[in-house]
Amino acid sequence: MQQLVKPKQPGMARSMRPAWAEVRLDHLAHNIRRIRKRVGRDIRIMAVVKANAYGHGSVEVAKVLLEQGADRLAVALVDEGVELRRAGIEAPVLVLGMFGREEADVIVRYGLTPMVCTTEGLRDLQRVARKFHKTVRFHLRVDPGMGSVGIPMEECKRFLHEAGKYPDLFPEGLFTHLPSAYGGTREEVEEDLRHFNGMLAELTAAGLRPPLVHAASSPGILNFPASYFDMVRPGIMLYGLPVYEGCADPELKPVMRLKSRIVYQKDVRAGTKLGYGNRWHAERNLKLATVPIGYGDGLFLFFMEGGEVLIHGQKAPIFGQVYMDHFMIDVTEIAGTAVGDEVVLIGRQGESRITSAEVADRSGIGGMHCDCVHLLSSRIPRVYIGKLDESFRDGGLS
Ligand SMILES: *Cc1c(COP(=O)(O)O)cnc(C)c1O
Repeated sequence: MQQLVKPKQPGMARSMRPAWAEVRLDHLAHNIRRIRKRVGRDIRIMAVVKANAYGHGSVEVAKVLLEQGADRLAVALVDEGVELRRAGIEAPVLVLGMFGREEADVIVRYGLTPMVCTTEGLRDLQRVARKFHKTVRFHLRVDPGMGSVGIPMEECKRFLHEAGKYPDLFPEGLFTHLPSAYGGTREEVEEDLRHFNGMLAELTAAGLRPPLVHAASSPGILNFPASYFDMVRPGIMLYGLPVYEGCADPELKPVMRLKSRIVYQKDVRAGTKLGYGNRWHAERNLKLATVPIGYGDGLFLFFMEGGEVLIHGQKAPIFGQVYMDHFMIDVTEIAGTAVGDEVVLIGRQGESRITSAEVADRSGIGGMHCDCVHLLSSRIPRVYIGKLDESFRDGGLS
């Protein structure tokens, strides 16, 4: 997985492009420490850094999270795990998604921990484990009714019994994703947990319970301590974003700000036609400024038409449509704007703020998903800021 632009180390962006995503490592550290406080010392934390750490840059984010209290990492794809290993990260990395037969070799070679839920998966891993003379740890995924990957609850015992026959495989973990925690009722979640606990009791009685049982992603961590088991898997909350409207920890801090600068500004006389196909015209004398970021940097930006950005701590309306590489803002009412002035598309500027959730809503991807920053393309350089001072380096619970 190659990135077009990748800062070599925090704070050093190679690109000088006047459009960038600022990633605050001190906020990230704050968030993982807050999760640690919430779950306590005895529960392990597996930080989910899939999809380039939800757009924040997986390698840089993973390093800070591990240093600040995460015990392990999780990704969705084998490629994402390989990227972490190539960057020198040695912590256990669980691949949450299905792996293809061709990928078994890579999993074992890079010491990744696969999710398994089929007999074919066991066979493929056993073959490669033998080839490399390694014991391969895997996590079994159980599906409580999401209809997605994972074996049905009632087949767990049989499956683990079968897995025990493969000499070079070890079922280190067993996990489920609690779909009911994403906006379902408390009763629905409790019902799912009851089933899950019943199944675990059976496994324990049969001596088949894997050492690491995990179920809670962000909403479970926020609302259901009974879902913690041995380990939790925070994703979206690490980045200081709400899981969905009304499901957030207000103490968490947004990690990313999307910024740009005015690169051009001009006065436009009333009556001037503007835009492709002369779709717009100036109804009065206007001062328009060009912001050099567009839907080529993340399709959701296309839907910013009619939206706002922050400049000089005030909201300025987007004028006309968003193009692939730029858009215009109407700064007629904002005194003293000039080329070079900073523009904030997502985040705080002065006393004003535009959240990722607001932009997601505007783009039509709100509701179940309050974030859109994971959709930023690799064309936007990620710039890492926020020094981790001594108080952030003890990694403890202070
Ligand atoms: C993405 C994912 C997570 C993290 O979910 P969030 O809602 O972002 O906290 C946890 N577990 C699995 C299996 C996932 O796919």
